[in-house]
Amino acid sequence: MLPGGVNSPVRAYRAVPGVPPHIVRGEGAHVVDADGNDFIDFVLAYGPHILGHQPPRVVAAVRAQLERGIAYGHTVELEVELAERIVDAVESVDMVRFVTSGTEAAMSAVRLARAATGRDRIVKFAGGYHGHADALLAEAGSGIATLGIPGSPGVPAAAVAGTIVLPYNDRDAVAEAFEREGEQIAAVIVEPVAGNMGCVPPVPGFLDGLRDLTSKWGALLVFDEVMTGFRVAFGGAQARYEVRPDLSLFGKVIGGGLPVGAYGGRRDLMEQVAPSGPVYQAGTLSGSPPAMAAGCAALDVLREDPALYDRLERLGERLQAGFEAAAGAAGVVCAVGRVGSMVTPFLGIDTARTFDNVKGADRVRFGRLHEAWLDAGVLWPPSQFETAFLSTAHTDEDVDRTVESFARALSPVSV
Ligand code: PMP
Repeated sequence: MLPGGVNSPVRAYRAVPGVPPHIVRGEGAHVVDADGNDFIDFVLAYGPHILGHQPPRVVAAVRAQLERGIAYGHTVELEVELAERIVDAVESVDMVRFVTSGTEAAMSAVRLARAATGRDRIVKFAGGYHGHADALLAEAGSGIATLGIPGSPGVPAAAVAGTIVLPYNDRDAVAEAFEREGEQIAAVIVEPVAGNMGCVPPVPGFLDGLRDLTSKWGALLVFDEVMTGFRVAFGGAQARYEVRPDLSLFGKVIGGGLPVGAYGGRRDLMEQVAPSGPVYQAGTLSGSPPAMAAGCAALDVLREDPALYDRLERLGERLQAGFEAAAGAAGVVCAVGRVGSMVTPFLGIDTARTFDNVKGADRVRFGRLHEAWLDAGVLWPPSQFETAFLSTAHTDEDVDRTVESFARALSPVSV
């Protein structure tokens, strides 16, 4: 009935052995499948559930909105309230426009960047994923990387002809591209912490370098914070690394698990969006009231208790240290890419820096690890090229059990 049995390719477990469990319930850091098996969940719906499943305030806020209505096709107070929360939290953002997915946010920001600069070319990075809009699918991460395909049939050559794909973490390559065709480049779009080739942190100076180069050449810097926004810090990766982009994309956490995306940034840019300006972009269910209610509640919980980010950091450190120690003990080379609560163990490589380099990871071994994890009640994203997420609902015990099953899976007797 559904192509590949799914509505998003990664869910089909094509890159790992085994059958995807049929999840029927989630609570906190755990999910339960139709057979009653309990899993520690590191997928967390691919990022939104930073507070775990069913956080009471988020659920209550959605429920309260449902009592009043689902959608009206008119602006509601909650849209303004969520926008205010984002503007207050993210320094570079003066205004936001809500959409319904990260894909839409990226597509719309690219249109705005092209309109604002009067230029057509876009720089993206290999292994970066910004949704499935034509121009951004070139050498993309996430499902495209998982399935090992270069792009997608059906994307006209002309749609990607303006896209320049460069290696992540390579400032010099960006400088050269600007030297070559700087006057045609509208924007550089980047996941400030790469999450769609597995978690690959930015090397020191990379994001600053992008800021300097884009400013120098009159191009816009677009941070795709769909994954990192409100996750690697309340103010996103831009707060964590202190780099101020012109435009930012959000999704996942800001919708509390309901379908939301957003793009925002400098007032002079955002005012070019219709109907304030001529750059057209619209959506029937944009600013969906239950989604706005969920987002406001989630951001309130996070803002009111900054210790939650300390907790995520500590859990992340514990998981990373556990993986590193276990891999060392088993004599398995393993680079652990991690920023805060985003984590990926790359088996068989000792550093995670670019897409070319992480493509060298041992995917067969990762598949065996994934299978062992499933058997042990650990639900990990089913690809070497998807980051895992921790939530504030995870406990030290969840982390330790996950590390123990990792150690068992890597031990020589099990291979
Ligand atoms: N940008 C990034 C960084 C993402 O991680 C994703 C989705 N994983 C997207 C954009 C696309 O978002 P969506 O799936 O909501 O279209």
